Amino acid sequence: MPIDHKQPYDDSNIFARILRGELPCRKVLETDHALAFHDINPVAAVHVLVIPKGAYVSWDDFAATAPEAEIAGFVRAIGETARLVGAEPQGYRILANSGKRAGQEVPHLHVHLFGGQPLGPMLAR
Ligand code: AMP
Repeated sequence: MPIDHKQPYDDSNIFARILRGELPCRKVLETDHALAFHDINPVAAVHVLVIPKGAYVSWDDFAATAPEAEIAGFVRAIGETARLVGAEPQGYRILANSGKRAGQEVPHLHVHLFGGQPLGPMLAR
């Protein structure tokens, strides 16, 4: 039997509320498939979140269940966001915490985009 990767989605999460316009955000980019906005608690000079508009909990959920147009749209939106905030061509890092053990707090898939400064080693040792 195939594994069902679709995870139950709680549409009261904070990013779902931003997508519905119930909460404000500092928008960088909006496309058919994605929204990019500044993180409310930045940990780098540039810290932007890029989220798919669809209801996906995590990277696994998205990668396994999203239609290809949504995956392509999301990946392209990340690249375009990097250009819009000047992180490209300077250099930047993208990161997705997937699951509680990785530190994912908001159960709607998001990619962090960090830039605007030298970023140092990937993980503290
Ligand atoms: P994670 O720990 O990977 O789930 O990251 C969640 C991120 O969402 C954190 O970096 C928070 O600072 C950020 N965040 C939480 N609420 C908001 C909000 N209303 N607007 C923008 N960023 C937010």
